[in-house]
Amino acid sequence: MYKRLVESGRTDLTIDIFERKKQLGVGMPYSTEGASDEHITNVSGNEIPDLVTPIADWIHTVPEKTLARYKIDPSKFNDYKVLPRLLFGQYLAAQFDLLLAKAKETGLKTTVHFDSPVTDVIDYPTQELIVVEVAEKLHFEFDHIIICTGHNWPRRHEGTVPGYFDSPYPPAKLAIKVNQPVAIKGSSLTAIDAIRTLGRHNGTFSMGSQGRLLYQLAAGSENFKLMMHSRSGLLPAIRFHLEDPHLLKDAVLSHEVVNKNREENNGFLSLDFVFEKNFKELFQDKDPEFYAQVKDMDLEEFVTMMMELREHLEPFTLFKAEYTEAEKSIKRRESVYWKEMLAVLSFAMNYPAKYFSAEDMQRLQKVLMPLISIVIAFVPQSSVEEMLALHEAGVLEIIPVGEDSYTEPAAGGGVIYHYTEETGEEKTVHFNTYVDCVGQPHLSYEDFPYKGLLEGKSISPARLLFKDAATGLKALADGDKNVEMDNNGHYFLRVPGITINDSFQAIDDYGALNERIYIMAVPYIGGYNPDYSGLDFCEAASAAIIKSIELYEPITTDSTDA
Ligand SMILES: Cc1cc2nc3c(=O)[nH]c(=O)nc-3n(C[C@H](O)[C@H](O)[C@H](O)COP(=O)(O)OP(=O)(O)OC[C@H]3O[C@@H](n4cnc5c(N)ncnc54)[C@H](O)[C@@H]3O)c2cc1C
Repeated sequence: MYKRLVESGRTDLTIDIFERKKQLGVGMPYSTEGASDEHITNVSGNEIPDLVTPIADWIHTVPEKTLARYKIDPSKFNDYKVLPRLLFGQYLAAQFDLLLAKAKETGLKTTVHFDSPVTDVIDYPTQELIVVEVAEKLHFEFDHIIICTGHNWPRRHEGTVPGYFDSPYPPAKLAIKVNQPVAIKGSSLTAIDAIRTLGRHNGTFSMGSQGRLLYQLAAGSENFKLMMHSRSGLLPAIRFHLEDPHLLKDAVLSHEVVNKNREENNGFLSLDFVFEKNFKELFQDKDPEFYAQVKDMDLEEFVTMMMELREHLEPFTLFKAEYTEAEKSIKRRESVYWKEMLAVLSFAMNYPAKYFSAEDMQRLQKVLMPLISIVIAFVPQSSVEEMLALHEAGVLEIIPVGEDSYTEPAAGGGVIYHYTEETGEEKTVHFNTYVDCVGQPHLSYEDFPYKGLLEGKSISPARLLFKDAATGLKALADGDKNVEMDNNGHYFLRVPGITINDSFQAIDDYGALNERIYIMAVPYIGGYNPDYSGLDFCEAASAAIIKSIELYEPITTDSTDA
């Protein structure tokens, strides 16, 4: 966002940045809040949006000691490599510094406030003013605010229930010896973060004679085991070569196309239309064989086919096969096209998702998202190698659980896991140590951290209208707590987070646009912004915001211009 502001060339704006830490650029995933030495990015230099210096150039400026710590040889480094997350954080911090220097050159006045946690935000509509409260005592006034506070994992039981972790972050808390099975909820990137840390503190990885990674349990951790609980026993898909890592940017449907489809469809954007345009049509030329296979399939049929393929294979056998496929793809620089297109679909439908009907959003959540979240995880190769080594050593297991599975904190510590086995047998298993690894939760409207905006009704809960009132009525009658009816008899599906428009501006409780408040913090916009992709999202959202800011007239002191 700051890069966009610097590059806007405007000198009539003044920017204040409030950062609760002592450094800019190093967000949660790339600092010790979200990473230790063993954690890596799932994107490579060529896949991240342009900042100031390409990573492959920047790496030559990194002190030798730091490179040695991460075992990086700059002469062998290229932009196709993933990076240790903490090192990537240093890169982002360096880029922010360069942007501040650029701002100075171009005359964009910027004030940085370190150690400044924003504790409240209050909107004054009549004065067209935003007040930012810092550390519950200082107050600053602004015309606009862009909320970029990033990730947030609320603590529900951690700290009160021993052995219960609401998330694996900060990872330093998992640097523990455990001589018993550990329950992990989830099997994707967040789970892998936990596995990499716990694995290292209870054993060692070494390279075997056949070039395969091996794992050996440490003395005192003989009973250490990682029990990953995942829906239908699925493991995530593996990073492969992306033919065009920037394809995503061009994939978002234009306003004209979205509007035309909405006009033809009672005001709703059709999910089937997006599936055709942003998925199936894309490999007509690139992979005609695959196209022929899926061209007559609807979304449900496609997902069923892809899920069945995964569900019928033993998860680690498939994981190994996908590892080999991905290795080939990277070596030959050839994409696995359908997976790349699924990432495009997920990215592209993120932005107009707010125009789906409630029915289509439910299909998206129930049908498509489970497949997308597996495929676009893009697990880095070294993580796969560690997981395979742990599995071969008998330390890592996957337990298939259904949608009806649930956990509850155990009175004496840890968790009780409830699930039904494939045989139909109901299971209740107690673990002394439990790590919830389902990833960033979509937080609700009520979880919004700035009470001033909640109390002033400057923001509103996100919801989607049912296309067919009878479906809404039935869902309400069936006790679906996310369904509500308004005074006009319209049925809505409540989705997580707050209502935003296409420029990421808040919509207030009366349905009016609040031009002063922009929000890019993903945990609070999960309903209207269901894809949690990373830096590519930051790039796309900031592009929409700067476009909207550019519409505002330059501020002038010349009254004749008023
Ligand atoms: C563990 C993890 C790993 C990830 N890995 C990748 C990856 O490899 N590739 C990828 O593309 N994406 C990845 N992501 C996705 C991630 O969302 C983005 O890459 C990116 O970090 C989002 O940037 P952000 O600025 O929105 O949030 P953050 O990076 O979290 O930054 C938020 C900033 O706001 C500050 N802040 C928060 N609250 C306040 C407050 N109240 N007052 C003042 N300052 C505040 C924080 O200190 C921080 O500096 C990962 C996410 C997680 C959680």
